[in-house]
Amino acid sequence: MRLLLLVVVTWAVLLMVGLMLSRSFGVEMPSCLFRRMTGQPCAACGGTRATILLAQGQFGQALRMNPLVAIAWLGVPGIAAWLHLRRRGGASRITPIAVRRLWIIAGLLLAANWAYLLLWGVAV
Ligand SMILES: [Zn+2]
Repeated sequence: MRLLLLVVVTWAVLLMVGLMLSRSFGVEMPSCLFRRMTGQPCAACGGTRATILLAQGQFGQALRMNPLVAIAWLGVPGIAAWLHLRRRGGASRITPIAVRRLWIIAGLLLAANWAYLLLWGVAV
């Protein structure tokens, strides 16, 4: 569990630093293939920009850009801490039913995020 947490935190830090550095040196991010093909945003559109805005401390802008990505970034440390404390407290493993419910919730959140982007989507 500690190794997984270390890998996730390291990945997140490297991603944030990489995004900030690429932005600082004027490197263009690849545009969204789905958006180029359909003219509509995908469920992840604006996620990179939301991540950069979060790294710059602009939480409101990040939420408007892509709410799910912004909330996920802010929630990851909390979820990791909850899992760690849960394990330290000797709690039993998460049941398969709970895992299924979490996947359903994740799917609903993804659909809601995509609807938001389709209705009030961010500029390209
Ligand atoms: Zn996209």
